[in-house]
Amino acid sequence: MYTKVIYVLVDSLAIIAILLTYGALRKLSTEYARLLRHALIFGAFAIFTNILIAVAPNPSFANHSYSFYFASIDWILLYLTGFCLSYTDHEKSLRVLRIPALIIMIADSVAILLNPLFGHCFSIYEKIHSDAIFYQTTFKPLYYVHLGIDYIAVLITMFFIIYRISKSYDLYRQKYVMILAVLLLVVILNLLYMTLSLVLDASVIFYAVAGTLIYFCIVRFVPKKLMTDSISMVADDMKEGLVLFDLKEECIFANDFFKRRFGLNESTISFSSEPMCSVIRSLKDKGEEFGKTTYLNMRESEKGIEEEHYQIRYNQLKDKKGRGIGTYLLVEDDTEEMSYLKQIRAARDEANEANRAKSIFLANMSHEIRTPLNAVLGMNEMILRESKDPQLISYARNIRTSGNSLLHLINDILDFSRIEARKMDILPSQYNPHDLLRECYDNFEKSAAGKGLSFKIECNTNIPKSLTGDYRHILQILSNLVSNAVKYTKTGSVIISMGILEASARDRKRVTLMLTVTDTGIGIAREDIPQLFNSFQRVNEKENATIQGTGLGLAIAKELVELMGGSIRVDSILGKGSRFTISVPQLVADPTPIGEFRKDILEEEKAYHESFRAPDAHVLVVDDVDVNIVVICELLKKTEIQVDTASSGDEAIAMCTVRKYDLILLDHRMPNKDGIETFHEIRQDGQNTDTPVIMLTANALSGAAEEYQKEGFIDYLTKPIDSKALEQSLAKYLPKEKVLREK
Ligand code: ADP
Repeated sequence: MYTKVIYVLVDSLAIIAILLTYGALRKLSTEYARLLRHALIFGAFAIFTNILIAVAPNPSFANHSYSFYFASIDWILLYLTGFCLSYTDHEKSLRVLRIPALIIMIADSVAILLNPLFGHCFSIYEKIHSDAIFYQTTFKPLYYVHLGIDYIAVLITMFFIIYRISKSYDLYRQKYVMILAVLLLVVILNLLYMTLSLVLDASVIFYAVAGTLIYFCIVRFVPKKLMTDSISMVADDMKEGLVLFDLKEECIFANDFFKRRFGLNESTISFSSEPMCSVIRSLKDKGEEFGKTTYLNMRESEKGIEEEHYQIRYNQLKDKKGRGIGTYLLVEDDTEEMSYLKQIRAARDEANEANRAKSIFLANMSHEIRTPLNAVLGMNEMILRESKDPQLISYARNIRTSGNSLLHLINDILDFSRIEARKMDILPSQYNPHDLLRECYDNFEKSAAGKGLSFKIECNTNIPKSLTGDYRHILQILSNLVSNAVKYTKTGSVIISMGILEASARDRKRVTLMLTVTDTGIGIAREDIPQLFNSFQRVNEKENATIQGTGLGLAIAKELVELMGGSIRVDSILGKGSRFTISVPQLVADPTPIGEFRKDILEEEKAYHESFRAPDAHVLVVDDVDVNIVVICELLKKTEIQVDTASSGDEAIAMCTVRKYDLILLDHRMPNKDGIETFHEIRQDGQNTDTPVIMLTANALSGAAEEYQKEGFIDYLTKPIDSKALEQSLAKYLPKEKVLREK
């Protein structure tokens, strides 16, 4: 009796195991998993019929149960064979064998199922075992045909597996060997059982065990084994080095790259060998246990000793719960990057050198062009002042316009190169915003009137009276916009308006100054607007062919505005006109509202600009180019200042020991002793150690102002000398008592 109970229990457990495996297998969508699931279902059914055999109340019941049992084994084998063919990639054979196998199995099953009627395969007899009745079978020759079919199915399966094992690569061979091992185990157990000839058939349980084992093989062991093998293959294929250590600092794994680069193998890799030892030491020096560090390796090769640069990461290996299980080193070869970096640095140095050469060239070019231009414009100014002949004056005016255009061009090119070299400085100073408008008005009113354009200025009366910002550059930008507006407008008007942004007006320390130039000119097509600020880019080329321009003005304006933290925008309609607006943040120096704009300056301010006389003042002018001296003397003629001249540094130094001057105008570039050397010698001894010295220079490059101030010059004037600027400087630096204002 116990035998039956144990038998039923074991069978029930086998059914549960099969059903659980079946459930787990449903997650796999492959064909072989589907076939294995079918095999398991028939396995569960077969075990169930086995239980029925054990508890059969009479021989007829046992006969029916046995026939279902033997038939279901057919189907287990059919699907198991299908699984093996599919799993070992014999899809083609599977397709060919499917129908004949199905026909054979159906025929065999029908034959078996008819046994209770005809008794042609086996017959039932009773056997008493431990006081209980067991029904057993005696087989007839036809049954051995059925058994033969079953074994042929098993042999065919094994044949296909063995074939695949022989044809596969190492990695996949392991996966098939596992399946073969499971099948062999089942066959051996089955044969063992048959030789033991127990009272009840337990062979089906072996099929259940086989199904479950196969499941674990295909879902767990095989993928894991494939993964570890593949990962180590990938690690060997890496262009980085990888080495793993356990907690006892023993090497677990080192990939090929690591072993090759450091000439090591698993047995020689340890924490006391390189690079581990240096990496750990260098991290320790930084106060870190794990982290990233650089490592320099000197390797001997056929080419000699070669430097290899590495980035090495030393880190901890952790399990899923975050416990340390070892450490690893990941080694990246940086040699190529370092060599690129070296090349880039060399290229950068070269570019810097070229840029420096360009700056020097520009400074020289500026100097060489400005020097003769100084003479041309200076002499021309004399003609304008002294000639009474209207024809001559008209010629001289043309010379002045062209000379100024040339000067403008040189300045634009210099500005552009300064911006490119990021050498443009923003120099804030305190100024009256009305001066911006006034200077623009003075400079452009005549040319606008000459073209019949109405030229208007609109100014918000609430603008602070005094602002701090880069007046010179804001004026330069505004002048460029106004000059363009006049240039590109044939009829109508040009309006300059000035305002401040309401939002920032509340913060009394800062305002955003808004300057807008509106014209009714040719306008700019919408698609051209984005290119407007590109350097050397002119739009409307056809229409503008006769209008002079380089296409640099707006590019410079945009860079300058952005350097000042502001922005520039354009609104334009082709054929109707344009509006350019710049907004620049400025500091408020005096928040008193500025009031109405007046084109003429107030009397007290005007006095400053008015001409003066200084007959008692003594000025020394030093320049190696005679014509420059003549220009200055002529420009100063009406101030009645007593002018001494020197044509070299040494001559000036000698004169300075003899006489005390009120002011010295000193040229920068002179042969033998330049202006700066001369200045320092004059400062050292003689009578003019504290005389204010103004530098006269054709070097208008950025930074010049600060450089001269650093040397000790009180101010500097650029060539060509602007007569107004010259007079203003003299009035400012000559002793007050010697400057006589016109009443
Ligand atoms: P340019 O020296 O050619 O005037 P800019 O950089 O100042 O160089 O201007 C670039 C181009 O933008 C000009 O060539 C012109 O085609 C166009 N442009 C600038 N201002 C105006 C304007 N007010 N009206 C129409 N076109 C303009």
